[in-house]
Amino acid sequence: MPGTDSPAATLDSDAPASVDSGVELRGVAKHYGDTVAVTDLDLVVEPGEFFSMLGPSGSGKTTVLRMIAGFEDVTRGQILLDGQDVTSAAPFDRTVNTVFQDYALFPHMTIAENVAYGLRVRKTPKSEISHRVAEALEQVKLAHVADRLPHQLSGGQRQRIALARALILRPRVLLLDEPLGALDKQLREQMQIELKQIQREVGITFIFVTHDQEEALTLSDRIAVFNEGRVEQVGTPREVYEYPGTAFVASFLGLSNLIPAPLARELCGATAALSVRPERVRVTAPDDLPRENETSVRGTISETVYTGPTTRYIVETEFGLQLIAERHNDHAPDDTSAFHRGDPVRAVWFTEHAAIVP
Ligand code: ADP
Repeated sequence: MPGTDSPAATLDSDAPASVDSGVELRGVAKHYGDTVAVTDLDLVVEPGEFFSMLGPSGSGKTTVLRMIAGFEDVTRGQILLDGQDVTSAAPFDRTVNTVFQDYALFPHMTIAENVAYGLRVRKTPKSEISHRVAEALEQVKLAHVADRLPHQLSGGQRQRIALARALILRPRVLLLDEPLGALDKQLREQMQIELKQIQREVGITFIFVTHDQEEALTLSDRIAVFNEGRVEQVGTPREVYEYPGTAFVASFLGLSNLIPAPLARELCGATAALSVRPERVRVTAPDDLPRENETSVRGTISETVYTGPTTRYIVETEFGLQLIAERHNDHAPDDTSAFHRGDPVRAVWFTEHAAIVP
């Protein structure tokens, strides 16, 4: 049986999906007894945006999503949908709908009946239901499975049906809680592309919860990075990746070389700690002197890791700090210019490619 994602629990809006619908959180906090799940949260999600909340497990993402949906009261603060204060509104009085990772469909109903369920509960006229089921199935590109039973679909198809079941109610904001979490890596990557296409076509606001940094970077217009109930940084994927605002963001979003302030000062005169992405670091022969706009440090290769598209070199520097350098394997497969464990080297990067981490 479908769980908490009962489609009946949301407002059926007949307004066109393209109507503006932003979400704003003002000073929102949530406490469970002594546990502070979320604190001092100010967030603006623009209409039509694909907005991700990214963070480790327990950082407060799901709690925020549930407060926007109205499944959870706020301890403090305000939630606005389309500029209207909905802080005290019941879930079905909010123009939002939620898709969960656990997308259980009614096993004995056809796909079309599953998708129609929310409208049937609301006593929508039959002729309109069939038209809207067709439209929702079209949106997720699964019109051809309308008469099948859920067990006759693949995991990815079932997840798209869960999406259709939410979209048929025409929410203005779709909340997605780790919807791809149950899928294996390959299917997950394929679904990411499809999800993005669907969002662009339906044109509504998506708020997406994930702990997978690659997924957030792939899908989002903007990302809020959560840590311990707070947002550490909000920005486009490029901004949060290339210019991490905190050491936590730098290390949570992919691999990063964090150079502590004293060493950063010694290497290039920086006044704060630096973050340099491994793909920005080049490994050269030790006597290859850096140019004026480059920073470099000498060391020894302590490990090489072949990942297929790239090779990672772990460089043990003369200052005791380990640096990771990543090189694209775009050379001939029998290329011999690669470095090996024990080789003395120099790790080099363009000084401007190191981001200051306050
Ligand atoms: P995330 O989605 O980032 O994994 P959650 O929002 O689920 O994080 O949880 C944030 C914090 O709130 C965690 O410490 C979690 O244990 C706590 N929490 C979440 N829901 C409840 C609840 N119903 N009762 C008590 N504590 C909760």
